[in-house]
Amino acid sequence: MIPAYARPAHRRLRKKLADIQKWNESSSLNVVIEGDSSLGIITSGISFVHAQEAAPQAGFFKVGMSYPLPLDKIRKFAEGYDCCMVIEEGDPYLVDSLRAAGIMVEGKADMYRFNELNVGRIKRILAEDTSDEPVPPRGKPPQLCPGCPHRAVFETLKELDCIVTGDIGCYTLGVLPPFEAMDTCVCMGSSIGVGLGLRHVLPEKQARRVVSVIGDSTFVHSGITGVVEMVYNKPRQGHVLLILDNSTTAMTGLQEHPGTGRTLDYQPTTKLVFEDLAGAIGISRVFVIDPTKDKDGFRKLMEESLDSRELTVIITRRPCMLAVRKQRQYEERMGENNKK
Ligand code: SF4
Repeated sequence: MIPAYARPAHRRLRKKLADIQKWNESSSLNVVIEGDSSLGIITSGISFVHAQEAAPQAGFFKVGMSYPLPLDKIRKFAEGYDCCMVIEEGDPYLVDSLRAAGIMVEGKADMYRFNELNVGRIKRILAEDTSDEPVPPRGKPPQLCPGCPHRAVFETLKELDCIVTGDIGCYTLGVLPPFEAMDTCVCMGSSIGVGLGLRHVLPEKQARRVVSVIGDSTFVHSGITGVVEMVYNKPRQGHVLLILDNSTTAMTGLQEHPGTGRTLDYQPTTKLVFEDLAGAIGISRVFVIDPTKDKDGFRKLMEESLDSRELTVIITRRPCMLAVRKQRQYEERMGENNKK
């Protein structure tokens, strides 16, 4: 928005927020449950359910819309109780906002700001218990599925002692045992920028160990600008980029993307071909390989690429185990449609 529009828009925004607050004062989104006058609890979301179980006798104000808050309604509620406690997960947004508006409420001890709340913890908050909490049992860390196409990639990167700048997807699990083969993960698309930065600044021996790893859907989402930068500001030592192409967006539920050749509702569409894209913007060393099928070949290719001062893009192509069935069904359907 240009400044000439932004200045009056700011006034409109404040007016809109005031109108929304007025609406929220009488909105049915906020629920009041009367209870024993000794304790009122102001809460929201899942904490409401836990708090009801922890203190069924209390009165409750369940905030349904937390911004802008229905301050008048909450004030009236708080005045009806001897003690009014705010139960909220995480940082003290509700309690700070209510106190800033002059509403007398109590908040949780600072130790309960961290981790999720549950019935037991809320009982402790209400009892003002700040003694050490029992240590929860250790959970089992998540892992790549058995047979996942990313496994062979991370095994090889670990064997070659690469410095791996990673990205967001199932393959982020490459950071955990048994692989422990990912060194950075910042945000979507950052694997390429961070990798290039390291290639530019590290001493030569270390720089030549750096590999950027990004999944196919993340590459489409925000990796392409990184490859343009790679070509434009080439590191002296070259760089190696792996695009892990499992032909889906596995981590968020197997959605299609521009690299699959199918729209979200499985209609055929123009396919973004990664190897063609890399070639078209000036990268000459472009390879496509299936590291699960040809692990030795992948290792050899990685060794050659790490030795080279050229820019290299390697597309490791093998579908996600969970997507294979869906893709087969799609192909069968397409075949039937073509016969008609
Ligand atoms: S969902 Fe697919 S990509 Fe993700 S870990 Fe499992 S097999 Fe690998």
